[in-house]
Amino acid sequence: MHLRIPLISVASVAVLSLAACGGGDADPAAYPESEITFVVPFSAGGPTDTVTRLIAEPMAEELGQQIVVQNVEGAGGTVAAGQVSGEAGDGYQVLIHHIGMSTAPALYPDLDYSPLEDFKTVGLITELPMTIVARADFEPETLEELLAYVEENADTVTIANAGVGAASQLCGLLIEQAVGVDLTEVPYDGTGPALTDLIGGQVDFMCDQTPNTVAQIESGDIKAYAVTTPERIEALPDLPTTAEAGLDGVEVASFHGLYVPSDTPDEVVEKLTAALKVALADQNVIDSFADLGTAAVAEDQATPEALTAKLEEQLELWTPIIEASGVTGG
Ligand code: ASP
Repeated sequence: MHLRIPLISVASVAVLSLAACGGGDADPAAYPESEITFVVPFSAGGPTDTVTRLIAEPMAEELGQQIVVQNVEGAGGTVAAGQVSGEAGDGYQVLIHHIGMSTAPALYPDLDYSPLEDFKTVGLITELPMTIVARADFEPETLEELLAYVEENADTVTIANAGVGAASQLCGLLIEQAVGVDLTEVPYDGTGPALTDLIGGQVDFMCDQTPNTVAQIESGDIKAYAVTTPERIEALPDLPTTAEAGLDGVEVASFHGLYVPSDTPDEVVEKLTAALKVALADQNVIDSFADLGTAAVAEDQATPEALTAKLEEQLELWTPIIEASGVTGG
């Protein structure tokens, strides 16, 4: 597996809050007293960013403080997670992350944080299907044809992802393993810009979460081959699952969750969890998630316990698969 473009670890800030926000001696009972920053590990416009911006508004309303969204891209989401793990545990820096939280330890031997030890979990937000999609004029029309084409043209086919550690990279790795090829990967800071290049025809195909693909599949700007979950999804009822389309073993359901540094007081975590539950019950959030091919988790999953359990389960699932693949992010 080789990368054509060097991974760029640049933090670009969509809305950067440099306000003095709390500190180690902040009073948890008074939280929040100033604006809160939600740190997104991928660029603006991608699925993680979209989900964050949708929940930030009702959460801000519930918490009575502004929430600003900061995009800290790089190294498949590990730059942002490393940044937040080193922040003061006062609830003013909150990380949103996806399945990459559970794949990073196996991909990065020198990772400077532990997903389980350096964070407290706030709650699950969504569980997201992924779709295998291609530029509209890419030759293969079905998943079966795609697999055959990729096998025959492994030297020229390009696959986009959001860096080693991204959900798109994990899904692409599974496809490459299933076919037995080593494709040219084109990494981006997030799948927002990857989608732009897919639509523009600069890259052949990719695997991405539905919030980034449903509208473009419907408009015909890109073509879709399969959804990577065991069941078909309501937003794209005609799209077969990978198993139905003959690709066994490529099942990935990503998830989004909120995290804070491990020394954050429980009282602060409880306030964030309560606000998350309010956001997930918000009708605009429910409708928007449905349009994006996903759904808010049930209320009892928007909890620290549920996100920790999910993280533990996913670490156990992906670590041996990634270790066996020999892929590393550095
Ligand atoms: N969903 C993307 C990925 O994991 C990243 C993003 O949200 O931009 O590949």
